[in-house]
Amino acid sequence: MQTQGYAAYTRDTPLKPYVFQRRELRANDVSMEILYCGVCHSDLHTARNDWGWSYYPIVPGHEIVGRVLAVGAAVKRYKVGDHVAVGCMVDSCMECDQCKKGEEQLCREGNTGTYAGRDRITGENTQGGYSKHLVVREEFCLRMPDGLDISKAAPLLCAGITTYSPLRTWGVKAGSRVGVIGLGGLGHMAVKLAVGMGADVTVLSRTADKEADALKLGAARLLVSSDADAMAKAGSSFDLVIDTVPVKHNLDLYTPLLDVDATLVIVGQVGPIEEASTVPLLLGRRRVAGSPIGGIAQTQEMLDFCAEKNILPDCEMIRMDQINEAFERMEKADVRYRFVIDMASLPAA
Ligand SMILES: [Zn+2]
Ligand SMILES: [Zn+2]
Repeated sequence: MQTQGYAAYTRDTPLKPYVFQRRELRANDVSMEILYCGVCHSDLHTARNDWGWSYYPIVPGHEIVGRVLAVGAAVKRYKVGDHVAVGCMVDSCMECDQCKKGEEQLCREGNTGTYAGRDRITGENTQGGYSKHLVVREEFCLRMPDGLDISKAAPLLCAGITTYSPLRTWGVKAGSRVGVIGLGGLGHMAVKLAVGMGADVTVLSRTADKEADALKLGAARLLVSSDADAMAKAGSSFDLVIDTVPVKHNLDLYTPLLDVDATLVIVGQVGPIEEASTVPLLLGRRRVAGSPIGGIAQTQEMLDFCAEKNILPDCEMIRMDQINEAFERMEKADVRYRFVIDMASLPAA
């Protein structure tokens, strides 16, 4: 199937239109028209080959909401016209211990990325959601629950599950004391989801500027991380801290905030962090961890949870041809809080 998209052709040129082929429908495949696609920091890093695993041309986009156009003969869960979604992965081995546990994101062979991946059967490069159509195996297709606004839900597929998964892994429940560092695409979802679970949520920010925004998202308070007195008073007072800062930074400011056995989970920065002291970790039996997205079953659980609690990302809708400007604004954190591309703005090939 021929489709139309937007691709990076080199690491330092703007994204441009790209006509390419989606694979023929296999028996277990779902083919969809993409209606909306969120814009993630990973899209920008991949377009620029910041992590060294890009190829060109490459079509980014892994926060995908669409409508089923056709299904293969063996597909059971979906039918033509259903609203569906796809996140950061489109396949895995389905046989290893992690896949069998429903943790396909941790597949021992590596999951297959929605973009910057390789088809497990043909070896072709995968291409993402900045495009009109997508073909994906049924097991990696999510159902959009009724009652979730499909024009705003796309960022749940990466920003949403990336923050939901650690909240579940570390057992956040009503009354849990949760800190969220950074209030961007990931941070604002972490706040909304933790509040939805009944947690007492504190946003940490370098200045007080974001206090009104934090409270509006449902946080109980904002803690100014440059205020040494306030930070000292908040020592040992958190059960879990979600660190969404997407650049190299210093953890020593935050680890003393953790209570005994509590954990700071890094979900933003992919790469080096500043040299840190083990003193607060040893003396307080505190932990630092990382977490990627969640498995397919947990991603479906997150979508259903958001529908039930009426949790949606705050989005700014853009046209496909505004993507380069959106990348520039995203780098300056000039978006509240996630861009979503209206794929109707991309002409059919
Ligand atoms: Zn992402
Ligand atoms: Zn596996």
